[in-house]
Amino acid sequence: MTIAENVALVRGNMDRAAIAAGRDPKEILLLAATKMNDASRIREAIAAGVDLCGENRVQEMLEKQAQGAYAGVPLHFIGHLQKNKVKQVVGLAELIHGVDSQELLSVISRVAQAKGLTQDLLLEVNIGGESAKSGFAPEEIPQALAWAAALPAIRVRGLMAIPPICAAPEENRPFFLRMKQLFIDNSEKKYDNIRMDFLSMGMSGDYTEAIACGANLVRVGSGIFGPRQY
Ligand SMILES: *Cc1c(COP(=O)(O)O)cnc(C)c1O
Repeated sequence: MTIAENVALVRGNMDRAAIAAGRDPKEILLLAATKMNDASRIREAIAAGVDLCGENRVQEMLEKQAQGAYAGVPLHFIGHLQKNKVKQVVGLAELIHGVDSQELLSVISRVAQAKGLTQDLLLEVNIGGESAKSGFAPEEIPQALAWAAALPAIRVRGLMAIPPICAAPEENRPFFLRMKQLFIDNSEKKYDNIRMDFLSMGMSGDYTEAIACGANLVRVGSGIFGPRQY
């Protein structure tokens, strides 16, 4: 299968999952998780119609950005962002997924303010309550939004989650449904710099389940590029 064929297949699956859930397929974005794929493969995915690219590692993102790998689509940062790398990501990534602490919110805001811009981001939720995973606990989200609301140079645009690794995609449904409820519950809060636009969840193994449960941004890597060569 070529990258273009894979993108068509994924998009077809996304559209069917959306329609089956009574949703408009056009409201769901396909992010290509491009880690470990080079610029030419990324360009193939963009030509095939992915909506966004997402990178995990700052250095890899900077190198490929310098090669023009992401031309034509917005670039997101989807990895675990270390505080000492915030400077390199703010302003380059249109959206930073996975912001997981009050301190990281503050650092991003400080760096964005120094650069004279406002940085969009998503709060990461540790929806499975896993000790090895980062993210706010679901019940901490109202507090995290209050912290974010007090910062001058960030905008919260939604939530993201990586549920626990499950044997079958259906097993993720309870986590995805909890995320959807959390998204709805916290959309009612009225802060100037918080707009719950994006619910980022679902990867190659479970993106149709995520869409059935309300995701409007899915992050697909191996489903587009094939297995990663480590
Ligand atoms: C790699 C990655 C993905 C995509 O994973 P696949 O299983 O290859 O689709 C999605 N989200 C994040 C945060 C990732 O790091």
